[in-house]
Amino acid sequence: MPTDAATTSVLLTYDQLLAAITDPEGREILDPATGELVGRVPERTVEDLDRALARAREKQAEWAAVPDAERCALMHRAAEAVEANTAALAELLSREQGKPVQNGPNALFEVGGSVAWLQATASFPMEPQTIVDDESGTAVLSYDPVGVVGAIGPWNWPMMISMWQIAPALRMGNTVVLKPSEYTPLSVLAMVHVLNQVLPEGLVTVVPGGREVGEALSGHPGVDKLMFTGSTATGKAIMRAAADGLTRLTLELGGNDAGIVLPDADPKAIAEGLFWGAFINTGQTCAALKRLYVHEDVYDAVCEALTEVAAAMPMGMGRDEQNVLGPLQNKAQFEVVADLVEKARSGGGRVLLGGEPAQDQPGFFYPTTLVADLDDDNPLVTEEQFGPALPIVKYSSVDDAVRMANRLDVGLGASVWGSDPERAREVAARIQAGTVWINKHGTIDPRVPFGGIKSSGFGVEFGVEGLKALGVPKVIAS
Ligand code: NAD
Repeated sequence: MPTDAATTSVLLTYDQLLAAITDPEGREILDPATGELVGRVPERTVEDLDRALARAREKQAEWAAVPDAERCALMHRAAEAVEANTAALAELLSREQGKPVQNGPNALFEVGGSVAWLQATASFPMEPQTIVDDESGTAVLSYDPVGVVGAIGPWNWPMMISMWQIAPALRMGNTVVLKPSEYTPLSVLAMVHVLNQVLPEGLVTVVPGGREVGEALSGHPGVDKLMFTGSTATGKAIMRAAADGLTRLTLELGGNDAGIVLPDADPKAIAEGLFWGAFINTGQTCAALKRLYVHEDVYDAVCEALTEVAAAMPMGMGRDEQNVLGPLQNKAQFEVVADLVEKARSGGGRVLLGGEPAQDQPGFFYPTTLVADLDDDNPLVTEEQFGPALPIVKYSSVDDAVRMANRLDVGLGASVWGSDPERAREVAARIQAGTVWINKHGTIDPRVPFGGIKSSGFGVEFGVEGLKALGVPKVIAS
């Protein structure tokens, strides 16, 4: 397999990038902020998927035979290519997904994150491990490639989440076929187009298409491992489809992350962290803070400080420089959020901010919304809003707060906020979630394993643990 393609040729304008990935006859993709046409995506069929998987199978053995150091070097060059094209990629991502280009953890951040993950994944040590070496003999554990990896992704962080699937798969010697969300296929096509200027042909293929393509991918005999990020309902359907072929799975599913503010927290000091924990990407983040439990001693002060911070954060068109929040990505999600806020209001919630979407505005803008005084069984608390509406629940005993945090059948992330780190750690240890953050929420790191428990899925991504999930363990014993 030739692995010496040049990277210097890859510098595309926005128009060149769009022209390379769109099809004049394709399906319209509209800007969620304005309703304007972003581009037309080619729609592929299940037969196209079959062909892509057959090709990925052919290429996989060759790629697996490339030495690890060479694979890593190519991945670093592919990361350089993505970095070089940051401006065009971020603009497209902003237009298609809605997130602002510039400020805060938005489109430039997402492209930068994709680069960082690719680089980090190409840098982890992944050596065979000697488990036994004594008078009884030796046992050495290493990881072979799984084979062909199928990847299905959501529409909230389409580039970065696709990179979380692509990078470890490639590093471990696999080839990848991705089915992007039908809402944000252009972002994934664009990023992979740039990667493929550097990577040998046929390692990473995007097959944009509807749900039927996702269904076919998850039950396909040509897939050895399926990486899925999306809703819990779809994750269950995928697990059923994968059963016949015993296809290995990593399922990163929905969350409803709790945050617990302890009585010793400093409301003003934590307000901005709480805001970004909940409203990053306009709340459309799997591990966003989705329900906030605040001790009665600091309840009013936290409500006030958080309202002050949230009210000052501009929301609007992604290309206007001052904005830090954008629209919801699609109408269906707008309706979910609007319905849950109505249920919160009718359930006795006190709206501290927002709650009234403008009627005359184009785009799926739902204002930043805080609803206090909610019962713990209100639907805005118990269901995943996946949008900019945070419910706030008052509690009087930490035991109660822990019980409420743990009562739902999801466990992706959670957070504890307080001035005494030891106390916060003790509470964190009692919370059922894949990650519990202290005095922050949702910060991820390519070196640190990330994944859910309960209905938030299973398997981890990132770090060496994430690499192992894209391999099959093999022991050689003597
Ligand atoms: P979704 O489940 O509706 O769709 C995800 C993908 O699955 C899309 O590409 C879709 O086409 C495909 N799909 C739909 N039905 C399918 C089927 N039967 N078989 C195979 N594929 C199918 O999710 P979404 O609305 O795009 O994303 C939002 C959800 O994703 C939220 O619940 C969020 O919490 C979750 N999420 C989780 C993580 C994580 O890391 N745990 C990250 C981001 C998003």
